[in-house]
Amino acid sequence: MIDSTCIENVSCPLGCPRNDNIVLIGRDLLHDLPGEFAVVKCFECGLMRTNPRPSPDSIGFYYPDDYGPYLGTRVQQAKPKQASSIKKLLRPLVKWFFNFNVASLPPLAPGRLLEVGCASGVFLHHMAGQGWQVEGIEFSEKAAQAAAQHGYHVHAGPLETAPKPDEPFDLVVGWMVLEHLHDPIGGLKKLREWTKPGAWLVLSVPNSASLEFRLFKEKWYALQLPNHLHHFTPETLGRVLQAGGWTMEKIHHHRVLSNLIASTGYLLRGKGYAGLGQKLISFPERAGRWSYALYPLAWFLSVFGQTGRMTIWARVNP
Ligand SMILES: [Zn+2]
Repeated sequence: MIDSTCIENVSCPLGCPRNDNIVLIGRDLLHDLPGEFAVVKCFECGLMRTNPRPSPDSIGFYYPDDYGPYLGTRVQQAKPKQASSIKKLLRPLVKWFFNFNVASLPPLAPGRLLEVGCASGVFLHHMAGQGWQVEGIEFSEKAAQAAAQHGYHVHAGPLETAPKPDEPFDLVVGWMVLEHLHDPIGGLKKLREWTKPGAWLVLSVPNSASLEFRLFKEKWYALQLPNHLHHFTPETLGRVLQAGGWTMEKIHHHRVLSNLIASTGYLLRGKGYAGLGQKLISFPERAGRWSYALYPLAWFLSVFGQTGRMTIWARVNP
């Protein structure tokens, strides 16, 4: 159980004078754990943060072992699958066209890669297969162990306690991780020190400037209180990157609407439609072919930067 001694009240990480507006008050809808949390917006710079928030020592309470991202990312043993030759030919084309998960990376020859928040190691495994030398950092000990079992060097613990690597990296990635950090600017500075000149940083985060956020507010699936401590827009993410020593060079808005469906699930569950609500909430894990059906709308919204997730490429400040 978490009590008031586990909660901390912090200022805007960009060093602005304290001047916040409350945007919403919400709670943990993913696991139904206790506590109410405010999202506030810094009047000076526009950056939104969860405040007050669980302290670094107590946040583990809100990461139970069944926390979704840990489960969904185990390395699957390759199963022999029979696919017709036409399917084999079409698959890469379909993947390229729909480009759902945007594992899109800068054009780089394989080198040294660090994944922050590598969970059970699926992406490390994928990149090792492409010739990269991979390392990971993972907050959950259980997930880190699962990744390490495949022979990868993984630091179990937060980014803050991770030791300096022996050699610098060419590429650092973090899929949906920056919003979880207590000190995102400190983390970004640390990553900058660990990289080679000209190295790339690729991050994905929820986009709080999206239509989804405006529609659903405290019921937005990607809000994930209190695990998400900062809630970025393209502008505020750019400022935080700059303060951490990085310059944003490219932004890609994902062409997916799974947050929209799951948020509708939260809304329906709150209105007493538990069965249907729950079905929609689990949509992101089971979207399958529905993602293709929703693609035209997702594509349209992404053109205007209105989908709920974005991936950015950044480089060390000149
Ligand atoms: Zn601020």
